Amino acid sequence: MFRFALIWFAGYFAITGQVYAQSCKTDAPCIYTREALRKSIDSDARNKLVALKKLIPDLVLDIRYATTNNFTKTILYHHPVACLRREPAMALKQVQEELNRKGLSLKLFDGFRPFAVTCRIWQLVPDRHYAANPRKGSNHNRGVAVDITLVDMKTGMELNMGTPYDNFTDTAHLDFYNLPADVLANRKLLKTVMRKYGFDIVPTEWWHFQWKNRAGYEMIDLDFDALKEFID
Ligand SMILES: [Zn+2]
Repeated sequence: MFRFALIWFAGYFAITGQVYAQSCKTDAPCIYTREALRKSIDSDARNKLVALKKLIPDLVLDIRYATTNNFTKTILYHHPVACLRREPAMALKQVQEELNRKGLSLKLFDGFRPFAVTCRIWQLVPDRHYAANPRKGSNHNRGVAVDITLVDMKTGMELNMGTPYDNFTDTAHLDFYNLPADVLANRKLLKTVMRKYGFDIVPTEWWHFQWKNRAGYEMIDLDFDALKEFID
């Protein structure tokens, strides 16, 4: 019995290991070591990562993937530092300043996310409608994308965007207009201000924005503990 259990156990890990290895292949350039990251930052200062809370102290954080309160119901990473590459980080600060003048603030669900997390999500939910295929990777892995919403500075309450974060239905699409006027106005405001400072939208997720000049940024596959020394 023990032997069977052992064989089953070994087989299980062989299979899951294989699935993981398969799901983690990528055709996109990716940095896997601290040495490689150091080199890339030394060669181009734009590659530096910037801690968003340090740059934008009143940014509201709700880092869902560090909790089970996300669509995978799994903790996807530990000890997160909300961060982005320098250029999108500076732009996000300008977005926040403009929103502050309207009594609003950004709330961040996710910024940079290690490549391994994209692999893990793909392993849990291998569907391109819900997750990025590791073959191409995600702009979150490149430190140039954010998942955000708007909150009222006085109440701290999120503005109504029509669906929660990571809702993968048509209702979350930016061309879905069968919604109350205030929801459409909130979405339009977020989209307009993000575009003004250099972010692109994706049509299927009202919360996702990516830096327009993102070409050339490589993915990074280092966890947050390993990354700390590289985050300003
Ligand atoms: Zn996103």
